[in-house]
Amino acid sequence: MRYVTQKGTKDILPSEIHNWQIAEQTFADVCHSFGYEEIRIPTFEQTDLFQRGVGDTTDVVTKEMYTFEDKGGRSITLRPEGTAGVVRSYIEKGMSSLPVPVRMFYNITAFRYEKMAKGRFREFHQFGLEAFGAKGPDIDAEIISVVDVFFRKMGLQNIALHINSIGCPNCRGEYTKLLKDYFRPHVASMCEDCQARFEKNPLRMIDCKVDGGKDIVKNAPRLIDYLCDDCKEHFEGLKARLEAIGISYTIDPNIVRGLDYYTRTVFEFVSENVGTQGTICGGGRYDGLVGTMEGPETPGIGFAMGVERLLLEAEAQGVLKEKPSYVKIYIASMSEAAKIEALKICYALRNAGIGCETDMAGRSFKAQMKYAGKQGIPYLAVIGDDELNSGEVKVKNMADGSETPVKLSGIGEFLAGN
Ligand SMILES: [Zn+2]
Ligand SMILES: [Zn+2]
Repeated sequence: MRYVTQKGTKDILPSEIHNWQIAEQTFADVCHSFGYEEIRIPTFEQTDLFQRGVGDTTDVVTKEMYTFEDKGGRSITLRPEGTAGVVRSYIEKGMSSLPVPVRMFYNITAFRYEKMAKGRFREFHQFGLEAFGAKGPDIDAEIISVVDVFFRKMGLQNIALHINSIGCPNCRGEYTKLLKDYFRPHVASMCEDCQARFEKNPLRMIDCKVDGGKDIVKNAPRLIDYLCDDCKEHFEGLKARLEAIGISYTIDPNIVRGLDYYTRTVFEFVSENVGTQGTICGGGRYDGLVGTMEGPETPGIGFAMGVERLLLEAEAQGVLKEKPSYVKIYIASMSEAAKIEALKICYALRNAGIGCETDMAGRSFKAQMKYAGKQGIPYLAVIGDDELNSGEVKVKNMADGSETPVKLSGIGEFLAGN
């Protein structure tokens, strides 16, 4: 039997992991610069947390969750996203007593049983953040700024910000009635999902992937034209803040999130580059979610970003980085005694934080040199009887071929200065 990765999963190999690490570190650094701190939540939670927190009419919950019964008879689900777990933690750990806003970011794997397509995985990675307790548009502008700064630090360009407001339960009630009256004569001609949405969640008919291109959807009344005064003021406040900061945006009335606890601001960052068009990051406000999950009524807002999608974009834009050389020097040895000395030197170098290698495979001297060259290790030192006697070695810079005599005990100092 030959074992292979399961459909929808992948190995991230040592040859490519550095770009993941760079993205992860950059995201953490940017979040820290805004006062967000990392939270790590469990990979699985009880199933009804997601039914409640993500919404039991969503595709994610109805079609895509990895749910199973554990040996104790509990219904367990692998997290399909990050927000529900963070909200659960916020409530369970009493974070509502902390000074607001409570700001947290995360870097997780998530699991969805999705149809396979390019760049789609069933185990995938998300960066995201959540902010609790701030209800004004300042925090909306802040989390959008986090994404904007992150993309800049990653060297990404041409990623457009689309914003919309989906109002609050007050203004949405009126609008939903209007929308149903509008769609009623056409519902039979729409897809099966939309026919179900018409009763349960008509707002979602606006962003239907099947019917979205049809005039009937394009000409539908837009929620943004029916906002109540408070929601209108909030949206104007966000626009003014983005303009003041200098982040450009377009208003896209077709971004919707059709669950009651999503309120007001929704946004997406969309690539405009040929070949990689599509949403890289989506987020919005969920002032009703903490209350829905039986926590104290608390406004909240967050976003999630697909890391696979992000790295595809970085690759397409040519901003992926070269793999760094963690190993700075190779210590080759010409005799058994020299090898023992090389081991001692390597131990000292590693304690000084300098990456180094010496032969572990019983290679001949010639084969050691070949190995070091192939690995692209930037410095080389060869230890034989002469070096052991004199206590001095020539450290060779492989890039320009120059050699510098250095004391055996001074290699670390030399490398630290180069
Ligand atoms: Zn409203
Ligand atoms: Zn449809």
